[in-house]
Parts: sequence; C-alpha cells; structure tokens
Amino acid sequence: MQFSRITEKLSPNVTLVAVTKYRSEEEVWSLYHAGFRKFGENRVQDLLKRYETFPKDIDWHLIGHLQTNKVKYIAPFISMVQSVDSLKLLSQINKEAFKQNRIIPCLLQIHIADEKDKFGFIYDDLITLLNNNAFSEFKNVQIRGVMGMATLTDDKTKLREEFRTLYTYFTSLKTTYFNNVDYFTEVSMGMSNDYLIAVEEGATIVRIGSALFEK
Ligand SMILES: *Cc1c(COP(=O)(O)O)cnc(C)c1O
Repeated sequence: MQFSRITEKLSPNVTLVAVTKYRSEEEVWSLYHAGFRKFGENRVQDLLKRYETFPKDIDWHLIGHLQTNKVKYIAPFISMVQSVDSLKLLSQINKEAFKQNRIIPCLLQIHIADEKDKFGFIYDDLITLLNNNAFSEFKNVQIRGVMGMATLTDDKTKLREEFRTLYTYFTSLKTTYFNNVDYFTEVSMGMSNDYLIAVEEGATIVRIGSALFEK
C-alpha cells in the first residue's frame, strides 16, 4: 500500500487518525507495519476486538456514537473519545475514567452537516451547558477540542463552509470557555473525500479510512 500518497499531502502538524473500521486484520497490520499508531474505530465492539488483537502501543480513538452503557469497556485504554455528543455521555466517561484512575481526552462533537441523522451537539445547546458550568465538575475528562462531520456531498463550497463553521465554533469556545487551559487545541475534521479542504480550514486531526486503501 502506498500510504505515503496520503501522508505526504499532510503537514507534520496535522495528526492522521487511520480509520480501520470494516478493514481486514491484514489491512490493519499493513498500517501498523508502515508505522501508523493512531487508529480510529466507530463501534465499541469492533474496537475491543482490535484492542485485543493488535499491539498495545497503538492509540485507539473512538470516532462513532457511544452509548453510555458501553463506556466502561473502553475506559481502561481509550486514547481519545472524539464523539462526545451529550452531557450524559461526558458524565459517564468521567465516572468510568475515575474508576480507572485515568483522565480521558475527549472532543466535543458538534453538528455541522445538513443531514438530520448526524450525531453531535447543536452548538447553541453546548453554549447553554457551558454557561451553566455543566462540565466544570468533571475532573477525569480533558476536553481537548471539537470534532465534526461534514455533509456527504461533492459540493466543495459547502464542505468548506461547514468546516469553516466548525473552526469558528472552536475559536469561540477557546476564547470564551477554555481560555485558561493549554490543551484545548484540536479540531478534528476531514475524511477521505474532503480532508484537504478540512486542513485548509484549520483541521489539526483528520480521520481517514478508505483513501488509505485505494488502489
Ligand atoms: C468512517 C469514518 C471516517 C473515515 O471515513 P473515510 O471516508 O473512509 O475516510 C471518519 N470519521 C468518522 C466519524 C467515520 O465514521
């Protein structure tokens, strides 16, 4: 696999999370042997299987919707939950992280797409929570930034607008609510079809799956 086709287009300041969902073990090994160590899965069950199968020097990111009753399974090892989309979920991650004596890095997933079925906070609802200091008691999670998924479209103008919106959200959150911490730095946006636009619009993390394996 010519993974360098993708990596050479990315500045070293951008973190590539290789999305391994639906990939064969062989394909995941090929990433591992090529030096990749940050992998993303969107389902807890698949993530647990991968964690068992692959070496322990891999950082696993959860990038899909997480049910509160499954947090306990990943709390011992997860490197980052990119898909925090409710107060209830953040509270549960905090609770399970506490039991593990860990601080779990998280991203706030914010809804930016047209589609109704995409998960994520509505930005205004997030602001209401932050104004009520709803997250302030959570000592075992560290909110590192934001994550978003753009609309599934080839319309580059629209994709750029959505990424720009997410970056604007990030900047406002940082100046208003996270200005006293140095770790609120991440903007996770961009997938196989749109990561170059996302990077132009300020992505610090891209989540790329299928493009890595295109022939
Ligand atoms: C599947 C997935 C990706 C990667 O998608 P590709 O189009 O294969 O690059 C990125 N982020 C999330 C949340 C995903 O579910």
